[in-house]
Amino acid sequence: METTENGAGGAVGAGSGPPSRWRALLARGARISLPALRWSRMRLPEADLAQTARAGLGLIYPPSCIACGAAVDRPQALCADCWTTIRFIERPYCERLGTPFALDIGGTLHSPAAIADPPVFQRARAVAAYDGAARSLVHKLKYNDRIELSEALGRMMLRAGSELLADADLVVPVPLHRWRLWRRRFNQAAALAQVIARHAQIPCDMQALRRVKITRSQVGLTRSQRRDNLSGAFRVAESARLRLAQKRVLVIDDVVTTGSTANAVARALLRGGAQTVDVLSFACVVTES
Ligand SMILES: [Zn+2]
Repeated sequence: METTENGAGGAVGAGSGPPSRWRALLARGARISLPALRWSRMRLPEADLAQTARAGLGLIYPPSCIACGAAVDRPQALCADCWTTIRFIERPYCERLGTPFALDIGGTLHSPAAIADPPVFQRARAVAAYDGAARSLVHKLKYNDRIELSEALGRMMLRAGSELLADADLVVPVPLHRWRLWRRRFNQAAALAQVIARHAQIPCDMQALRRVKITRSQVGLTRSQRRDNLSGAFRVAESARLRLAQKRVLVIDDVVTTGSTANAVARALLRGGAQTVDVLSFACVVTES
C-alpha cells in the first residue's frame, strides 16, 4: 500500500512495505527509531494483515507530530500548532532563486539579488522558509537520526518542486564528504533524493557527484570567503560523465542558506557535462527585502 496525503496538504502516512532503501540503510548501521519502520522490516504477505499489524502498533505507539511530538491522528503528520509555524513559499517568488517577494509588485520575475549576482543553477525552489517547525524538522532529520522524516519532507518537496521535476532527467543529492558521512551515518540530502526520485519516477544518481574537500561551516563567512571555502569541494566522478551528459539535473538538499553550496554543486555538474541544473530543498533561508 502506498502512502496517503491528508487534506491539509503536508502530513503523510507511513508506507507499509519493506522498501529496499531502509534495508540498505539498516545494513549500513543506520539507527531508525520509528515503530512504523521497525515493523516495516517484517514480511507481511497480505494487505489486511499489514493493516491489522499497523493498527496494533498504533495502539502501542500512538502517532505523534513529526516536529514536536504532540499527539496527532496519523503517523508522519504535523500537528496544527507546528503547521501554522511553517512559512510555506508560494508565488510570487523570484523565478531564479525561489525566494518569496515581500510584496506582489506584479510582473517582476527576478529578485534584485538574482539580477545582481545570478546563480550558477537555473532555478531553486523550497517548501518553506528555514524557521519555525521547518527548521526543527531539518535539524531532526540531520542531527537526530530521524531518517524516517525523509518520507514526509520528501513528499512536501515533490509538491514545491513539481515544475523542476517535470523537466528533470536525473536527481542528484548534495553529497557529504566521506568522513562526515561516516560520522553522521547517513546523508540527509541523499535520503530526501531517494524519496523524491522514487515518487517522481526519475533516476537518482548517488555516485555522480563527490565531495572531495572538507569544508568548514559557511556561517559568518563573507561571500568571497564562502566561495573560497567551497572552491573545488565538489567533483563529478569520471565514470559519471557519460551518465550526466546533456542531462537536466535536479539537485536535492535539505536546506539552502546562502546558495553558495548550490552554486558550487551546479558549477561542478555543469563542468561534468550536465545540460542544466535546478535545485530543490526542503527549506531555504529567506532574508526580508
Ligand atoms: Zn507539532
